[in-house]
Amino acid sequence: MAVPAYDPQNIFAKILRGEIPCSKVYEDDHVLAFNDIAPQAPTHILVIPKGAYTSYDDFAVNASDAEIIAYTRAIGKISAEAGVIENGYRLIANTRDHGRQDVPHLHVHIIGGKKLGLMLPKD
Ligand code: AMP
Repeated sequence: MAVPAYDPQNIFAKILRGEIPCSKVYEDDHVLAFNDIAPQAPTHILVIPKGAYTSYDDFAVNASDAEIIAYTRAIGKISAEAGVIENGYRLIANTRDHGRQDVPHLHVHIIGGKKLGLMLPKD
């Protein structure tokens, strides 16, 4: 199945272009990270690549090695700097309809700072 086209009007694209503000926690040539506007735990950071990728699967196929390395290392570094390494945390990348992705620009949630609930609610 083809990856859906990237929508340049999504809210994270607007943040990347500086059209709307964010609470920035990290930035490098390939990566931006900021606090989630509606945090679900004491630590709730969103990490996004600067490139126009809709999802992890899109990124894995189409991003350069440099982008992939930068993104992977940034998620680790930001988690460490957020102070969640010792007690633990959760990385989430909601993807498209079944994954309940709201913003169609790849983002990994770093969530921690308290003992989290079950990974998935029981249906
Ligand atoms: P998802 O459902 O995985 O696509 O997550 C999207 C996340 O983006 C949600 O947790 C929102 O609270 C968050 N969000 C939406 N708009 C903003 C914004 N302007 N700044 C920071 N976080 C946002």
